[in-house]
Amino acid sequence: QLASREYQKETRTIQFGNVKIGGNTNNTIMIAGPCSVESESQIQASSALLKSHNLTMLRGGCYKPRTSPYSFQGLGFNGLQLLDKMRNQHGLAIITEVRDATHVHEVIEHSDIIQIGAKAMYDQGILRACAKTHKPVMIKRGFGSTLQETVQCAEFVLSGGNDNVAICERGLRTFENKTRFTLDLCGVAYLKEYTNLPVILDPSHAMGHAYGVPDLTRACMAMGVDGLIIEVHPDPSVAKSDASQQLNHDQFNALMQSLPAIGNAV
Ligand code: PEP
Ligand code: MN
Repeated sequence: QLASREYQKETRTIQFGNVKIGGNTNNTIMIAGPCSVESESQIQASSALLKSHNLTMLRGGCYKPRTSPYSFQGLGFNGLQLLDKMRNQHGLAIITEVRDATHVHEVIEHSDIIQIGAKAMYDQGILRACAKTHKPVMIKRGFGSTLQETVQCAEFVLSGGNDNVAICERGLRTFENKTRFTLDLCGVAYLKEYTNLPVILDPSHAMGHAYGVPDLTRACMAMGVDGLIIEVHPDPSVAKSDASQQLNHDQFNALMQSLPAIGNAV
């Protein structure tokens, strides 16, 4: 299997522009930004925050896979245009999610990394479309998916011709409900041992509450993961999605200051 260490010993390197994820670097790529792109002023503030830390990868969802049809669904194509503007104005690379196959080609065209959401992990229309591009893909593990099922979704993309696949662990559903999900760090150790896929950790969605995100981020850094994806919002109290888990800018600044003692977040 293409994702296995038997097939390829070295961790895959995902490279585009000045961004390098995985391979044999000791760097952890720090992807940050709001859950959803909400407005130009919001995404400008997020971009300025990233620039102040010399970070290069901005996250922001435009097609949101909400649990309720009555919640904010994202800005759609208008959001993608705002992200294009951030790339052009600030030189940032963009990761944004595809929710279903109806807009997969728009997301492929307007992103630098295509994010396949946890609920969309099994969508073969998306997986097969992503296999036909060379744009990097980050597959988020479903919250009820085994490691093997997750790696097999990656195999669909790899075997279809796209070498640039990373896995994101974002927490599993367990009996516990004090935290939103349960971050599977054992699974991360497995992925690192047996697969050649870069591994990106999402403590924000796992925890569901901002208070736990800094400690979890540091724990992930200590595991030597290839990347982190953190939700941060200029004013989380008014965020249109995932308000409780997004860090504010002060919290993010404090987190960034604490990381050099553990590893290189770039
Ligand atoms: C997100 O990244 O905002 C998101 C919806 O994540 P997930 O697919 O892991 O729920
Ligand atoms: Mn979110």
